Amino acid sequence: MPELNAELKAELIAIGSVNVDESLLAGISTSSTGPGTGLKSLFFKSGGHRVRLDINNDSPLKMIKNHFLERKALPKEIKENNDFIILKDNKELVRGEIEHVLAHCPEQAYITLSERCIYDCTFCSVPKLQGKIKTLKEVINIVEQAKKTGLMKAIAITSGVAESPEEEIERVAEVVKALKRYNVPIGVAVYPTRNSTKLLNEAGAVELKYNVETMDREIFNMVCKGLSLDFILESLREAVAVFGKNRVSSNFIIGLGETDECVREGVEHLAKMGVIPVLRPITIQPLRKDELEAIRPSAEQLLKLARMTREILNKYGLRIEVSQTMCLPCTGCDITPYRDI
Ligand code: SF4
Repeated sequence: MPELNAELKAELIAIGSVNVDESLLAGISTSSTGPGTGLKSLFFKSGGHRVRLDINNDSPLKMIKNHFLERKALPKEIKENNDFIILKDNKELVRGEIEHVLAHCPEQAYITLSERCIYDCTFCSVPKLQGKIKTLKEVINIVEQAKKTGLMKAIAITSGVAESPEEEIERVAEVVKALKRYNVPIGVAVYPTRNSTKLLNEAGAVELKYNVETMDREIFNMVCKGLSLDFILESLREAVAVFGKNRVSSNFIIGLGETDECVREGVEHLAKMGVIPVLRPITIQPLRKDELEAIRPSAEQLLKLARMTREILNKYGLRIEVSQTMCLPCTGCDITPYRDI
């Protein structure tokens, strides 16, 4: 009975989607693909690994329900873990279960505060959607629902920049203060400002993510117009000083045309500062497909880069298992060193 392992997970992530008859998902919570994309995805778990897959009728992967399971004859663990089968070219690839999503991901209430942005990074669909700004009441409702499941281990807040980075940090800090009463670790992923690290730390966040997006400067200037990579790096350095090692991370997108050498140097640069890089395979958003030149990395590439990152994290004494919020404990979108490989 095939279970997920790092190699199979990489194969699934490289494809990134699955075709599933939505009637099979009745009663199972799914997620929006990423903050504010409007696409649906599911979380598949097997063999101690988790993967997030977009639900897409055109996917080469097909998920079916395991109708042939003789439930009564199987031990409990087997019954729970083999409800669904993923097929590729009509051949069984892996069996597992679909996980319950709290808000965006399993075990965390991961909330996008401002579903709009004044910037226009070409890999991101948030600026295209120009959605709403959630009120505190709406955020608390989401967290209350997540808490009721008994599965909520953490809260994570992210946000586009609705008016200005400074106003956004104030908005996020107010929300974090209000959510402290839930007594679970709170992580925040935002664009930094001069005093965002201090304000978010004082508000009660325990982990922080400022995304470099890429460490290739030329690519950064093309895809993140109006943002400053130097300022993000400077802010990350300060964040480590305030939040501590293993409490600061940064997304590094793979597939924008950067070389492996650039990834290696970038990962080393971040790790040396005490920042854990999250290598994130590019998702080409339907709303962006004509604006972005990108290639989703292959399974081999993902495994190679994850192994390299693991070595570098080890060299600088960084420990992923310490992280409690956002993508490092979730692992759904990436091959996460130490957790997957
Ligand atoms: S890895 Fe991060 S972006 Fe992906 S589903 Fe998990 S929390 Fe969301």
